[in-house]
Amino acid sequence: MATVSLKTLQKIYPNGFQAVHGADIEIADGEFIVLVGPSGCGKSTLLRMIAGLEEITSGDLLIGDRQVNDLDPADRDIAMVFQNYALYPHMTVYNNMAYGLRNRKISKENIDKSVREAASLLNLAEYLDRRPSQLSGGQRQRVAMGRAIVREPALFLFDEPLSNLDAKLRNQMRIEIRKLQRQLGTTSIYVTHDQVEAMTMADRIVVLNAGNIEQIGTPDEIYHRP
Ligand code: ADP
Ligand code: ADP
Repeated sequence: MATVSLKTLQKIYPNGFQAVHGADIEIADGEFIVLVGPSGCGKSTLLRMIAGLEEITSGDLLIGDRQVNDLDPADRDIAMVFQNYALYPHMTVYNNMAYGLRNRKISKENIDKSVREAASLLNLAEYLDRRPSQLSGGQRQRVAMGRAIVREPALFLFDEPLSNLDAKLRNQMRIEIRKLQRQLGTTSIYVTHDQVEAMTMADRIVVLNAGNIEQIGTPDEIYHRP
């Protein structure tokens, strides 16, 4: 768990295009923030800068009290969940979840405990020996969540994780993700272009438009203010 501070974060791509114009966001410990806005507004760029997958042009990024601007993704204490799941097709569910722990100094017993706890939270206990191709879309997304959970990161980053699922499953997974996140208390930043998703999931919503923050507030403040 951690607070996260974005202080005038800017992104100018090498071709000179400015995708993010000085974003300032203060995120509380355990808060679930949704970044919303139309395609091309800069959501992914902002999330990728926080993840360390895209260089920060200027500004400061703090996770907890650490300035992490120049740290590798692996050193930022984050876990990311993607739309396409990014699972290893040749590995079992168990190994997909355990993989990220094996290159840390964690005993086999503790890895096993973490994987089984996450699998139980996610209703995946019966599927540990399957491979991703033998799972439904919702189950694959749960494995991707499991892989993030076992790392016990300070921060979850979600990049449109539900956009490959049908409407019914999407609804169900929104509720599940929030329930799980509240249980774990992990600070989260969730990117979507879907306003319903933002409204139903967020503690606070950040509305982006053409690289600028237009509004920050609770769903009520953003969507119901006269
Ligand atoms: P979103 O996630 O909201 O759809 P992106 O962050 O992907 O938006 O993109 C924001 C803007 O930055 C878009 O106009 C996009 O074309 C531009 N952009 C993204 N990646 C690059 C890049 N590597 N070089 C130049 N411009 C880029
Ligand atoms: P491979 O990737 O070569 O097919 P497996 O995926 O079957 O191998 O398993 C590799 C390792 O992962 C095993 O040594 C085992 O310790 C662990 N493992 C895989 N699935 C499980 C499971 N359901 N319960 C406990 N350990 C497992």
